Amino acid sequence: MLKVNGVHAGYGDGNVLHNLSFTVPDKEIYVLLGPNGAGKTTAFRVVSGILPPVQGRVFIDEIDVWEEPEKAKTSIGYLPEGERVYLDLSVYKNLKFFCKIYNIEEKRIDQLLEEFGLEKYKSAKAGFLSRGLRKRLAIIRALLHDPKVLVLDEPFSNLDISTVLNLRDRIFELLEEGKTILFSTHILSELQNFESLKCKVGIIKDGRLILEENVGELMNKVENVEVVFKVDKREVAKKILERYGYDVKYDSRGITVRVLKSREVSTIIRILLDNDIEVYESKLRETPIEKIFTDIT
Ligand code: ATP
Repeated sequence: MLKVNGVHAGYGDGNVLHNLSFTVPDKEIYVLLGPNGAGKTTAFRVVSGILPPVQGRVFIDEIDVWEEPEKAKTSIGYLPEGERVYLDLSVYKNLKFFCKIYNIEEKRIDQLLEEFGLEKYKSAKAGFLSRGLRKRLAIIRALLHDPKVLVLDEPFSNLDISTVLNLRDRIFELLEEGKTILFSTHILSELQNFESLKCKVGIIKDGRLILEENVGELMNKVENVEVVFKVDKREVAKKILERYGYDVKYDSRGITVRVLKSREVSTIIRILLDNDIEVYESKLRETPIEKIFTDIT
C-alpha cells in the first residue's frame, strides 16, 4: 500500500503541494489527473524520495519513505517525466549502470529487454532511439529492481498511438503481476481505458486534491463530449447512428459522435458491431481539462 499523508512541499519559499493525501491499495492503480503545473511531478518527486516534503509523510506499507529512504527505494520504481536516460550510453549500458547501483544481476536486463521488445536496440545509443523506445527503456530501468510500487509520470504523453497501446497493455500486465501503480496524466480520454479496473482518480489543481473518484464514476460525470470511432465503413456507420438519433460527423480517423454521457460509448459500439461495422478504436476527443473541472466540481 502506498499512502501519502498531509504532504506540503515545494521549491524555495512557496509551497506547490498543499495538504496532499491519498492512498493506493496493493495491486491497484491510482491516477493523478490535473492540468500542467498542477503539481503532479512535484507530488511524484516527494513520493519517490527525491524531493523532501516540508510537512507530511509518505509510506510504502509501514516504511516511511523519508525516514528510511534506502529501504523505501527498493520498493519504488520511478519513471520521471521526460524519460531521463543517459543519451550517450547504449541501451544496455544505461541498464547495467543501474544494475550496479542496485546490485542486480545483469541477466535481469536481457529478460526485460525481451519483454519490452528492445533486445534489438541493446547496443544502440539511447540518444538515437525514438521517443517511444526511450520511454520503454526508462520503464525498464524503473522495473529493474522489481519494485512493488511503480510511479509513472505522464507515461502516455508525446507517444504515437501504437506505442501508447503497447504501453497500456504492459501496464495492465504489470497490474496482473501484482504491482501497485500510480501514474499521472493531463489527458482525460486516457482514463476511459481503465474503467474496467480497480482504479481511482485524484484530480489535482493548484497543488490541492480537489476530488477523488472511481474512474467509472468519474467518466460517468463527463457529460456532452465528442467521441471519435475508428471504423471500417464510415458512411454506413454514420447513417445507422443517425437513425438512432445521434449527432454524427466525419473525422479524418472515422466518425465523431456527440454523446451526453461517456457511458453511451459502449451502446454505440454495440450498435455498430450488430450492423457488421468493425470498430478499431474509440477515443474521447480531447476535452479541455477545465471542462471536466466545471462538469464535476
Ligand atoms: P506538468 O505536467 O506541466 O509538469 P505538473 O502537474 O507535473 O505539471 P509540476 O511540474 O509539479 O506540475 O509543477 C507545479 C509547480 O511547481 C509549477 O508552478 C512549476 O512551475 C513549479 N515547479 C516545478 N518544478 C520546479 C522547480 N524545480 N523549481 C521551482 N519551481 C518548480
